[in-house]
Amino acid sequence: MREIGHFIGGRTVAGTSGRTADVLMPMDGTVQGKVSLASAAEVRAAVENARAAQPEWAATNPQRRARVLMKFLDLVHQEYDSLAELLAREHGKTIPDAKGDIQRGLEVVEFCIGAPHLMKGEFTDGAGPGIDVYSMRQALGVVAGITPFNFPAMIPLWKIAPAIAVGNAFILKPSERDPGVPMRIAELFIEAGLPEGILNVVNGDKEAVDAILDDPDIKAVGFVGSTPIAEYIYSRGCANGKRVQCFGGAKNHMIIMPDADMDQAVDALVGAGYGSAGERCMAVSVAVPVGQQTADRLVEALAPRVESLKVGPSTDPSADFGPLVTQQALDRVKGYVDLGVEEGAKLVVDGRDFKMQGYENGYYMGGCLFDNVTPDMRIYKEEIFGPVLSVVRADNYEEALRLPNEHEYGNGVAIFTRDGDAARDFAARVQVGMVGVNVPIPVPIAYYTFGGWKGSSFGDLNQHGPDAFRFYTKTKTVTSRWPSGVKDGAEFVIPTMN
Ligand code: NAD
Repeated sequence: MREIGHFIGGRTVAGTSGRTADVLMPMDGTVQGKVSLASAAEVRAAVENARAAQPEWAATNPQRRARVLMKFLDLVHQEYDSLAELLAREHGKTIPDAKGDIQRGLEVVEFCIGAPHLMKGEFTDGAGPGIDVYSMRQALGVVAGITPFNFPAMIPLWKIAPAIAVGNAFILKPSERDPGVPMRIAELFIEAGLPEGILNVVNGDKEAVDAILDDPDIKAVGFVGSTPIAEYIYSRGCANGKRVQCFGGAKNHMIIMPDADMDQAVDALVGAGYGSAGERCMAVSVAVPVGQQTADRLVEALAPRVESLKVGPSTDPSADFGPLVTQQALDRVKGYVDLGVEEGAKLVVDGRDFKMQGYENGYYMGGCLFDNVTPDMRIYKEEIFGPVLSVVRADNYEEALRLPNEHEYGNGVAIFTRDGDAARDFAARVQVGMVGVNVPIPVPIAYYTFGGWKGSSFGDLNQHGPDAFRFYTKTKTVTSRWPSGVKDGAEFVIPTMN
């Protein structure tokens, strides 16, 4: 049985709180480890350690800091396969999908190697007689990230890389469900040359999170997880005077116009709806065919594809998706399918009774497909976070557009069409943060920013891309004068450009 403690000051340390959580193996339901749940005192020790290390790191020239990231990339590539396997065994996703999880994180590390350029300030020569104005970006100090179970490599890396590239020390509180990869990431950063204390990992639950939110030495908190917790963290962190960005849940729609390439749309829906068992914040969970004929064609083509999805253990490379993360998650998702039936939606494909032979204690279910879902149903309003796709039929384009616009969440959305004008209009008017045109999961590449709108995000800057550099630095603006000749006396009127 693995015992997972914390990573503080460049080494793993055992937990001292006496509290632990089980780390499960979703594919067979066994307990594969115990992770320590940090007390407030353990979080405080990690913060003090980080605070002592941070000034020297911030004073290191940015190119040397970037070289640590370069070396880290190299080290991850050397153990890609074992890292992906560790991830799959704790999360439940398939190994090829676990590699994607790591890869999307590494792409942000690659972007952050450009930190020396991204941190450059502005300069105005001669803003007045003998006056120069310039701005510089400086690290905040100690910052923290609180991350969800569903991308245990990608999301920690989205936060760690920009934060440390600009000279902060970072405290990571990963999900207690799959802490193995975040702990290994911390070890690899030290191997890559990161000074001890610049990346500390404290494992834990609400107690550790609250200690982070209340710690006066933590200047910024980045969170990703469900919306109720995002809202809680945003308000408590802001009330304590921190810079906070929180990314929450989702209900992503995909609009299928009558002129869409139906084969392409069905392929996209199957991958985006059921990949990773639907446990992605950018999964498509609502398909909106426009017009009855489009809807009939879509459901007819989708049903056999959903029925034939291959569910398998995480170690089966030919599986389309693996188990859900916990028994509790499985019960919740199945409960939503029961609810949809009660609410009057038509369950076209029912995956509730799926059993994985040889893995009877794993948290499996088959893909489910609902037709005739309506906006008043809870299965439409709420995030299910499982392999369940709902078809909501719209009579025309305006009705289809209203659905994502009026939904509480606004993370991702897509339109499938051959009509450039419709696509352009959609991109301009839809009230959602990330839009795909014939692309079902429009997660922006690393040098753009990632973030939803409405109930999917709290705070005003996005993740990765240039916004990450704004979030993790503060701007200082210097107005300097080097007088020549006769020196003026004191001035009592505010300087203006008249
Ligand atoms: P979660 O909200 O349960 O947990 C996220 C983090 O918050 C974990 O580290 C957890 O330990 C902590 N936490 C949980 N309960 C807490 C509490 N009461 N007080 C303080 N901290 C608490 O989310 P999850 O189940 O790990 O992840 C799935 C959710 O994350 C989904 O809603 C999904 O849409 C969302 N998500 C969003 C994005 C995005 O970028 N918008 C990306 C990935 C996942």
